[in-house]
Formats: sequence, structure tokens, C-alpha cells
Amino acid sequence: MTRAPSAPKSARPEAKDYRSYSFWLETAGEELAPRPSVPGPVEADVAILGAGFTGLWTAYYLLAQDPSLRVVVLEAEIAGFGASGRNGAWCSSGFPVSPGELQRRFRREAARELLIEMRGAVEEVGRIATAEEIDAQYFRGGQLRVAHGPSQLPAIESAYESLRGLGLEDDLRLLDADETAGRVRITDARGALFNPHCATIHPARLARGLARTVERLGGEIFERTPVTDFEAGGKNVPRLVTDSGEVRARTVVLAGEAYLARLRKLRRQVLPIYSLIVLTEPLSEERWAEIGWEGRECVASNRYTIDYLSRTEDGRILFGGRGAPYRYGSRIRDEYDRHEPTHQMLRHTARNWFPALEGVRFTHAWGGPLAVPRDWMPTMSYDPSQGVATARGYTGQGVATANLSGRTLADLILGRDTGITRLPTVDHESRPWEPEPLRWLGARYVQRGLMKVDNRAERTGEPPTGKTLAEWLGKH
Ligand SMILES: Cc1cc2nc3c(=O)[nH]c(=O)nc-3n(C[C@H](O)[C@H](O)[C@H](O)COP(=O)(O)OP(=O)(O)OC[C@H]3O[C@@H](n4cnc5c(N)ncnc54)[C@H](O)[C@@H]3O)c2cc1C
Repeated sequence: MTRAPSAPKSARPEAKDYRSYSFWLETAGEELAPRPSVPGPVEADVAILGAGFTGLWTAYYLLAQDPSLRVVVLEAEIAGFGASGRNGAWCSSGFPVSPGELQRRFRREAARELLIEMRGAVEEVGRIATAEEIDAQYFRGGQLRVAHGPSQLPAIESAYESLRGLGLEDDLRLLDADETAGRVRITDARGALFNPHCATIHPARLARGLARTVERLGGEIFERTPVTDFEAGGKNVPRLVTDSGEVRARTVVLAGEAYLARLRKLRRQVLPIYSLIVLTEPLSEERWAEIGWEGRECVASNRYTIDYLSRTEDGRILFGGRGAPYRYGSRIRDEYDRHEPTHQMLRHTARNWFPALEGVRFTHAWGGPLAVPRDWMPTMSYDPSQGVATARGYTGQGVATANLSGRTLADLILGRDTGITRLPTVDHESRPWEPEPLRWLGARYVQRGLMKVDNRAERTGEPPTGKTLAEWLGKH
């Protein structure tokens, strides 16, 4: 995959080769020709910044409940350009804050309800894809959290225990090394926790299909329309500001995830961190026979520095991970999507996990920014007095979460008091990240420190102590 150099800054960005941003966008099954930009000032009931999963699900549920609404979505590039069109394909009930920590912060019942809703979101994505005839390649294979090496066995046991503590263990299964190998053969896998509440999707097909569905329901999507600022209501009418004019609305929805850090008013609300992915060519039947993985579960180990794997519908292995450096000033640029040392490390690790990959080509490498809030807790909020709603901060676990966000924001905006409008995510406020250069110093210290902790655990076979400064800072 090659990519033309980034376009120079201009009011209307040059059309990019959007297919080059990920394997998913390349195989979205369409040309990705941009929709028209906003033609000038527009009045709407709801104006949404961002045509990723959050913005599109919000538009979808608003229109599904009230077809009379004028819903306008403004997208800087094209629908699915951001993380929604580039991710690891996991549609998972996993939540950025661990079950134990959720319970500690919000008490048992609220933590339990939130995680049950996350499980519901995994099903809901599949249900709507079917109902709306979106070819999202939804496949419910569950998830295997693998203990990769002896140091990781305590992590899967404690993951099981914390879900058991919430009474959510019924359909989980702790697998020993042989049972794990019966599902997928990974070098040095010592066991795994199987969780059925997870599916794989084709992210770009889901995002693009959702965009078409929103339009069919009467929503309007303007692409290549960057929002440069927003104004809350109160004395004025809430609005999204673009170089072509303002979109004034009763409610504006900020659904730009990592890219929100580019807006002056939200600069310190989320930390953009890059997640990177490598992808193999389709494997032969012989190689698959060696690896197994017929169940196509989403697979991860327990590294702080995160790895995530999936098996694509056309028989490739996707191997993703973090490790690319945080960029000073929360900068997001196309060239950061590729970081050769991290991509190289991912290829190397993939071959390590699967010796059957010897001689197999890696055909794609890409990445994108995700958003980390200061306390790792996503927010889904709406302030009716200001006419501003937002959902953000998924820390790389946003595919199913964004569906929950869309339903939650729609209910909040429509004034409906439902179970999901009382979850701990609603109106949650995270404190802002530190100003630079502290932010950069802290983020890089934690990134490097956690990498060292992971490497030491792998080398020694001893689990992390949880007592290093990097581990402490990573949680505070
Ligand atoms: C490499 C990678 C792998 C991941 N893997 C997984 C995974 O396997 N499972 C999982 O659950 N999550 C994963 N995530 C996270 C998940 O993809 C995201 O949390 C989710 O897609 C967020 O959706 P979103 O709509 O909120 O944001 P995005 O998809 O990032 O969409 C935001 C949109 O807003 C637009 N935008 C931003 N600013 C402006 C502006 N000023 N004006 C107009 N438009 C704007 C952007 O162009 C973009 O299209 C991954 C993320 C990355 C980067």
C-alpha cells in the first residue's frame, strides 16, 4: 500500500487516496468518492461533527426515532476515514476501564449495568447490520484473552474473577493450554479466557453502510468539510463553524474522537495515541490447518502495551498493537499512521506467535489515532442548556461502545429517560490532560516504562508487580 504525500493545508482539502488509509477502506467495495462539501450556511435540528461510528450511530438512532428531524453530519474527510475505518475489527463488549476498577469507581450495580449494556451493544451492531442490509461481515466468534507465557496466567484468572465479582461469569470459560491450542495454536500460550460477547466486523463496510443508511432515513452528510470551531448555546444558537459557513442547530454533537484534540476548546480533553496494524496475505489451507483458529475468535494477550488479533473473512491474520510514540502537542498527521519500528515489531511478534507465518508476506501496514481521556473513562454527555452533546474517549475499544454512545446521545437529545441514560458514562467529566511539555514527558515516560515492564515479564516469566512508577502513572 503506498500513499501520496499529504495535501497542503487549504480551506477544502485536496481529495486524498482514501483507499490507502487501511485494508478496510481499500476493500470497502466502493470508490470512496467524497460526497459534496457543505455548500454554505445551513440550519438543522442536530448538527454532528464526525462521520465515524459515534456520529453515524447518533444520526441513525435520532432519525430512526424521529424521522422529522433535520440531521446534518459534517465530516472533514469521508465517512469512515478515522479509527472507524481502520480498526482491528473487534466489536467487543470490552470496556476501557476494567470491571474491577469500574466497580471501585461507580459501585457494583452501575458497573454491572454498564457491562451488560456493552454486551447488548455487540448484539445490537449485528442486529442493525442485518436489519439495514449492511454487508458488515459481522461474525460472532467470541474473544480469547490468551495467557502468552507464564507471566500472564494471573491476569486471565483475575479478569475472570473480576467479572465473577459482578455476577457476569456465566458464559465465560477459563481454558487450559491444551484447550486453548484446540482453538488456536500460539507459541507459548498457557491458557485463555474465552468470552462469547465479541464479534468481528469489516469496519469500513459498516461505517460506509451506516452512512448510506443515515441518508436513506433523511440525514444529510457533507464530506471534506472540516469543522474549525464550535459555539455552545446559552445566549447564542449552537453552531458548528466551517470555512464555507456555519451550521446552526438546536443541538451540536461533537463526535470526532482523537481528532477533537485539534479543536482549541477541547485540546486537553483527550490524548491522541496511535494504534498500528499489520496484515498478512491470505494464508493457504495448509497454514490454517497448522494454526487452527476455525472459530475466528478475536485474540489478545495481556500486555500493558496491548496487542489485538483477528482473522479476516478472506483468511488473513491481522496483528495490531500500540507502541508508536505519543506526538508532542497531541499532533495528528497522516505520516504518523506509519511508524516502521512499531510495524516491524508487530511483524516480528506475529511470526513469533505463529511459526506457520514463515515465508508469508505482510501486504498491508497502517494505523490511526485513538483517544485516551485522563481517567480512561468514556463520556456520553448532553447539556441541554448549551445545546452541546459529545461522546468520546474510548481508548481503542470504541466499536461497540460507539453504538452505545449513539443510542445514549439520541435518547438524551430526545429527552427520553431510559436505562442507558443513567449509566456512569452519562455526563461523565474527565479532568483535562496536563499542558505541554508535561503531557509529552508523562505520556512518553509511561509508554516506555510499560514496554519495559512487559518485556521484563516475558523474559523472566514473572507477572508485573503493578508497583513501578509507569504502572502507577498509567492508572492515575
Ligand atoms: C488502529 C486502530 C485499531 C483499533 N481497533 C479497535 C478494535 O479492534 N475494536 C474496537 O472496539 N476499537 C478499536 N479501535 C478504536 C475504534 O476504532 C474507535 O474507538 C471508534 O472507531 C471511534 O469512532 P468515532 O466515530 O468516535 O471516531 P472516528 O472513527 O475517529 O471518527 C471521527 C471522525 O470525525 C472526523 N472529524 C474529526 N474532527 C473533525 C472536524 N473538526 N471536522 C469534521 N470532521 C471531523 C474524522 O475525520 C473522523 O472521520 C481502534 C482504533 C485504531 C486507530
